[in-house]
Amino acid sequence: MEAVVIRQHGDLEQLGFAQVPLPEVRPGWVLVRTRAAALNHLDLYVLGGLPGLNLEMPHVPGSDGAGVVEQVGEGVESFAAGDRVMLNACVWCGRCEFCLQGEHSLCIRLKLIGEHLPGTFAEYFQAPEASLLKIPDGVEFEQAAAFSLVFLTAWRMLKSQARIQAAQDVFIHGIGSGVSTACLQIARVSGARVFVSSSCDEKLKRAQELGADFAYNYRSSDVVDQVLRETGKRGTDIVVDSVGAETWLQSLKIVRKGGCIVTCGATTGPTPATNIPLIFWKQVRILGSTMANAREYREVVRLLGQGRLTAPIDRTFPLSQGKQALQYLQSGKQFGKVVLSVSG
Ligand SMILES: [Zn+2]
Repeated sequence: MEAVVIRQHGDLEQLGFAQVPLPEVRPGWVLVRTRAAALNHLDLYVLGGLPGLNLEMPHVPGSDGAGVVEQVGEGVESFAAGDRVMLNACVWCGRCEFCLQGEHSLCIRLKLIGEHLPGTFAEYFQAPEASLLKIPDGVEFEQAAAFSLVFLTAWRMLKSQARIQAAQDVFIHGIGSGVSTACLQIARVSGARVFVSSSCDEKLKRAQELGADFAYNYRSSDVVDQVLRETGKRGTDIVVDSVGAETWLQSLKIVRKGGCIVTCGATTGPTPATNIPLIFWKQVRILGSTMANAREYREVVRLLGQGRLTAPIDRTFPLSQGKQALQYLQSGKQFGKVVLSVSG
């Protein structure tokens, strides 16, 4: 089958488009004929190499995918050939203490499709039965692929970790990324008031169209001052910070007393300057979040099916142009998701 492959860790020059063997379906797993896959920054991190990640090369990246079931492995009961399915990239063991509590993204043996295991940027991908859901009727393959990783991540961040409530204020740094736009929409359907920032006026305009109440350009205004003025010096109940080094101190100033900062990443660097007195004096809760469990994935996909949440898709490339698509993702110009389409 044809696939986008990483030949060895490095820059985009290490990406190729090549023939790789069709995977043999494992017991309990499902072989899916890919119709669409979506890009994530994770793909660029996997390309560059991550500490402790030892991959067999060439490696097929891609952690978001949707398609049609081609074949089911021994023991699979929930799916049959021809079903339209979408993917939660988490692969968990099912027997560690966290899996037994239903906390699959805390699994001590957690692996991600596309990171530790062969991914979705190929004509076929393979996943455990428990990591797949049927695509709701009326949802296109491109949308199903674009939706999963960012919305399941954002759902766990805001619903399970930050426990968002109606009438709360939420601040989101760097609007335009997949996770930040997912957080914006989840905050809106939860009844919260949403503040966003970006360096790009066009992205701020798009965010307001999606329901952001306040949008600040951090190059031309002091975001901390603006938020404190708008909230009567109180700050926001929740700050979503997946930007990291460049925004961490701002987050500590923007969050209200007793509020929380929730993070799922650090695109500008992992070791920011911090301010411990702000953390204890304001009694701030700092919450980490990664991916989601099976229950959370099911909940957020239900809202996709009801048309209450939709991933904005910026641009679609054919599978053969995976390299150009990742180059475009790296440029940071997109608002929402970049998708690879695989002809059926
Ligand atoms: Zn486990």
